[in-house]
Amino acid sequence: MDSLEQLTARQALIVTDHFMVKTGFVDRVKSHLDRNNIPNIVFADVESDPSLDTVTNGTRLLLQNKADLVIALGGGSPIDAAKAMIYFAHKASDDVLKPTLVAIPTTSGTGSEVTDISVVTDKVKEIKIPLRDELLIPDMAILDARFTRSLPPAITAATGMDVLTHAIEAYTSRQANAFTSIYAKYAIRYVFDYLLRAYRNGDDMEARENMLLGSCMAGMAFNNSGLGITHSIAHSLGGIFHVPHGLANAVILPYVIRFNSFDVGLRYQEIAQMLSLPAATVEEGSASLIQAIFDMNESMGIPTRIGSLKIEEDAFTNHADVIARNVLEDICTGGNPRRPSHSDILKLLKEAW
Ligand SMILES: [Zn+2]
Repeated sequence: MDSLEQLTARQALIVTDHFMVKTGFVDRVKSHLDRNNIPNIVFADVESDPSLDTVTNGTRLLLQNKADLVIALGGGSPIDAAKAMIYFAHKASDDVLKPTLVAIPTTSGTGSEVTDISVVTDKVKEIKIPLRDELLIPDMAILDARFTRSLPPAITAATGMDVLTHAIEAYTSRQANAFTSIYAKYAIRYVFDYLLRAYRNGDDMEARENMLLGSCMAGMAFNNSGLGITHSIAHSLGGIFHVPHGLANAVILPYVIRFNSFDVGLRYQEIAQMLSLPAATVEEGSASLIQAIFDMNESMGIPTRIGSLKIEEDAFTNHADVIARNVLEDICTGGNPRRPSHSDILKLLKEAW
């Protein structure tokens, strides 16, 4: 946090949510800026899954105040919103110099502090719009585990499983390479070693710190390797049924591994071996990994099926076709190691229901 005092800026804009204001975290950031004599204003209206409307309002504020420093403080949502605001401000006028973006994640989940991706939600069309541009890469990420200490267990669980999904999908992606695989593998290790500890005891700062590192490493991996259809399905479930991103990933991941394992079982076997799970054959490795994920979900009260996510069965059945279409068009599907067809997705959704 002290690095905030080394920045120079004419006007700072803090992008965050009301919870961060209430906890006093925003004041903590402000005090560093005040000490550095940087005038600052706060935009605290970011909701979870930031909407286009919110981003538009924030962009207006950014342009009106000619902010040259943007500090995104919060979970994935405020960071994604800040990135989208910078993107749209830049598109609105070529005269706008790109503000410096500092990301301070307060959950260990999205890895958004090191990626060039932002996801905003079009609430009218019920879809998530991923933005991807070099402009979106934060100039600085501050990893301070103290911010994650007060996260309630359910959020720790869901965001932690998002990290695991990033790491496993990055490791098995079509665009994976030796460098992304190293980061992905380490991140998987960290989640298996520390997530349950952080879930059971939020004050376990060693676990909190390592989950924050794991989240950042997984972000570095998938930013270069892409993801897979667990994310594509989670995006659609989030857009239509408002299932939180990490929770959707946690539930779907084992089913996607089963679907992919016919093609890339070897990669799952490697992960299982690293985790010292039974993995004498490719089949055994995939099966052990799937079971380990189910077990971890269960230990943290995460359901094993989509049907337990407070979604009406009729509504789900009626939307299955739309979900399958969304999945095939999703930006993440290209990274999936096995090319799914429309009917593959329908089958997978049925299995996971
Ligand atoms: Zn994710």
